[in-house]
Amino acid sequence: MALRRQGKYMMALLKYKENYTLYKENKWRCNSCGTMKSLSEYYKDISCKSGYREICKTCVSQKFKQYYLKNKMKMNIQMREWRKKNNIQWKNWFEQKYGKNPKCEVCGKLLSWKTKNRNKMVNLDHRGNKTKIIKSPSYWTWMHKCDVRNKQIFLSCNFGILCKACNRNLPTDNRKNWLKNVIKYTFGDNYADKEGNND
Ligand SMILES: [Zn+2]
Ligand SMILES: [Zn+2]
Repeated sequence: MALRRQGKYMMALLKYKENYTLYKENKWRCNSCGTMKSLSEYYKDISCKSGYREICKTCVSQKFKQYYLKNKMKMNIQMREWRKKNNIQWKNWFEQKYGKNPKCEVCGKLLSWKTKNRNKMVNLDHRGNKTKIIKSPSYWTWMHKCDVRNKQIFLSCNFGILCKACNRNLPTDNRKNWLKNVIKYTFGDNYADKEGNND
């Protein structure tokens, strides 16, 4: 053990000596890649004895990139985990609020919040209204924390519960006109007038 420590010490001393003589010639051996490079290839650093970093510029930027990539990946994984948990919280709350198997408000089909089957999934619909949540409500809940404030925002939108087919068939804009035309198409030209629904 003592020998090994001594060996390490000798190596460090030799390296120091080598670097010292090289420093006089404006050269330096990079402590990371081991390449001999001129001092201009090193960042100045007053906190180091020599006045220069022990690692060359290339190695510094490489280390920074590695650190960034490693942490970006870690952060992405953490974010994905958070979203998954948050999504489950939203779905539990939907079940409490609207029941485990709510009916499609148009055709009456039984639906589910947690299924992966698109034909049984709840589709949240804007009812043709302009709401605080403009784009897809499910994407909004995926991105927003399931807390008291966001639950209130969600409720204020009064989203409709539809099955996939009913949601797909309904147009996004001008629903009133579209419905009038469907009624006319189905029952003939004068149906809407006869019922007194002129608006
Ligand atoms: Zn290097
Ligand atoms: Zn339906």
